[in-house]
Amino acid sequence: DYCKGGYHPVRIDDTFNEGAYVVVRKLGWGHFSTVWLARDVRKNRHVALKVVKSAPHYTETALDEIKLLQKIVDANPNAPGRKHVVELLDHFYHRGPNGTHVCMVFEVLGENLLSLIKRYNHRGIPAHLVKQIAKQVLMGLDYMHRECGIIHTDLKPENVLVCIDNVEEVVKNELLNDTRSTTTSYKKGHSIRITGSQPLSPPSSGSPSSQKPNNTSEQTKSPQAKENGEQPINGVGTDKNNYDETDGINRDDAESVCDTEMYSSPLTQDKLTNKPSTSTKWTTPDVINVKIADLGNACWVEHHFTNDIQTRQYRSPEVILGSKWGPSADIWSMACMAGSRYNKDDDHIAQITELLGLFPKHLALSELRHIHKLRHWKLADVLQEKYLLSRNEADFMADFLLPMLDLNPDKRSTARQSLQHPWHQIDDDKDNLGGGTSSTHMTGSCDSRDNRTHRTLNSIKQKSD
Ligand code: ATP
Ligand code: MG
Ligand code: MG
Repeated sequence: DYCKGGYHPVRIDDTFNEGAYVVVRKLGWGHFSTVWLARDVRKNRHVALKVVKSAPHYTETALDEIKLLQKIVDANPNAPGRKHVVELLDHFYHRGPNGTHVCMVFEVLGENLLSLIKRYNHRGIPAHLVKQIAKQVLMGLDYMHRECGIIHTDLKPENVLVCIDNVEEVVKNELLNDTRSTTTSYKKGHSIRITGSQPLSPPSSGSPSSQKPNNTSEQTKSPQAKENGEQPINGVGTDKNNYDETDGINRDDAESVCDTEMYSSPLTQDKLTNKPSTSTKWTTPDVINVKIADLGNACWVEHHFTNDIQTRQYRSPEVILGSKWGPSADIWSMACMAGSRYNKDDDHIAQITELLGLFPKHLALSELRHIHKLRHWKLADVLQEKYLLSRNEADFMADFLLPMLDLNPDKRSTARQSLQHPWHQIDDDKDNLGGGTSSTHMTGSCDSRDNRTHRTLNSIKQKSD
């Protein structure tokens, strides 16, 4: 992929935009770009620099992404939801040996929700954080939908990033310690990390360069991920060529989405062996602010670029069935966050039907003809039986989620309506979190006896037997 039309070969200390940005280290990469921590020389701060592949279709997609991001910036600077969507700071072209690359500059953000979920392992993200995250994502969506006329179309935990309060302090600490160890301290001494947890190089084979720019990541799974029915994250974890030419470290042992054991964050990793360390204790942040990121697949409410949208686990029934879709497709994904894994459309629809009941007739009933023996497992029962919420809590949460999972996209609740649900108002008693502010539940132990007090965003995961 480091070839004509592909990635730009970035080196530490490279400068961009006539010396305005100096590269510090790599933050991550995706199928369209590599993303770098860079110093903004003029403003004396750090930024995330996204350098897009140079082939024409990547450039066109990036220019659409910029227009969408500019709308986010301009639509209504005072809207409360705006601060829960990533902010574009600058953009320009950069010429290099592989062509001319669109570059975008963003504020530096932290880890994504999937890694947060994995960090909480089998116990789930504490309830008060789940509420906070759900609320902020809905606020971001409300802003995108109503004020910007934008549909994200690829809402999933990987695309919701945790904010870093004191970026400069964090970067300074990090550079003092070890550029690979992304340990940081923020928010009243609680531990969090910035990105960089993925293998540090894009794949050198199996490149998605032949794909449509607006493809969702399902098509970009490695063969191994496909077999496992695993959720890919930027193709991470299954690439056999995770060799980072910037430091010569083989990243094969780095975290993998397909390998929960190895997914412990760099903070908990032994630096020499790259194996999870048992000595590091985690603390639970009291506050997490999040932002919706990666508008690379987003579109206008009035102008869709493709109907091939959403990553499978978060794909709404109207999209699966090829029916009309709109902003409510994002609401479906929101309610499915960290949902279960599906392999086939039929199976997916079957699971939706099991959970929510029969489809309305007009939604292509013929599509469902090969499905037999469905059981209906009510969401509130799933929350109670599988996630061990009390009857009351389960009923309350189901009452919040079910309107977002209305099979009829026109009747589905909007972000604004969902924000008005009293579920947001009930404060969870943090004392009731079974040590939620201590590190005891972060040791990776599988003991989930105390699960009642730890809810997960996984709440609509269906029965898999
Ligand atoms: P995708 O294949 O997901 O469409 P992409 O090429 O469009 O990838 P992004 O998803 O925008 O690229 O970014 C790639 C990775 O870079 C992210 O997964 C994340 O790890 C990191 N990253 C992106 N933006 C930021 C940011 N603002 N701050 C910190 N890290 C970031
Ligand atoms: Mg992405
Ligand atoms: Mg993208």
